[in-house]
Amino acid sequence: MLTPEARSALAERVAFYRELGIHDFYQQEPSVETRLAPTPTAEKELLILQDEASPSDDNAGALQAIRFDIGECTRCRLHKGRTNLVFGVGDPHAELMFIGEGPGADEDAQGLPFVGRAGQLLNNMIAAMGLRREDVYIANIVKCRPPQNRTPEKDECDTCSPFLMRQISVIRPKAIVALGATAAKNLLGLNDSMGNLRGRSYEFTPSGYRGEPISLFVTYHPAFLLRDPRQKKETWKDLQLVMRHLGLRPPEKPAQPSEA
Ligand code: SF4
Repeated sequence: MLTPEARSALAERVAFYRELGIHDFYQQEPSVETRLAPTPTAEKELLILQDEASPSDDNAGALQAIRFDIGECTRCRLHKGRTNLVFGVGDPHAELMFIGEGPGADEDAQGLPFVGRAGQLLNNMIAAMGLRREDVYIANIVKCRPPQNRTPEKDECDTCSPFLMRQISVIRPKAIVALGATAAKNLLGLNDSMGNLRGRSYEFTPSGYRGEPISLFVTYHPAFLLRDPRQKKETWKDLQLVMRHLGLRPPEKPAQPSEA
């Protein structure tokens, strides 16, 4: 059992190593049981992260460390209604990140972001850009489902977003697409309409991030597009901005994301 002083000194040392980009402190890969309380949810998710990580993959290891820090989080009231915490999924070295608002019913049930109808539409948007879902990284502002799919409150976003900032700082994407007003407003700290927020890029620097600013784009949330498909055309214009920024070749035939 560590004394309070030793615990404090150890925490400072770990923070110092993390500042240097060192995230693994074990001589041998620890068992799931030693790193995380073996609840079925957390154990399953950590095993997925470990499967994705190769010994030399620092980014995957750093994402594992963030997931470990989150644990079975009760830092905000959203933990009360969740079935699964939705950490995020995708390529730890992705050049492109999509960030939505929060998990819905399907995401809460599966522990993965964007897996319902809106997720299918997001997959189609990604495919229209000439990419695969596994080429990008997908996360949300809050990691637990708000009750009745309500918009997450500011204090819930503020409590959860430091983990997202750390995920972004590890992945270091070249571009981020904020899906919907809640994601855009929280990331940019701007309170404006979607009409004013989208159609341009922003320079985004996550708190604690020391690299060059990341280009951030705003477009409609896929769930909104399911309710108002007329906005798919505008969404495609936003995605083409992102493609130009990433140097992605437009498809030979103009494509627009469709639900089917
Ligand atoms: Fe923790 Fe984020 Fe879930 Fe709130 S939403 S309980 S801060 S993981």
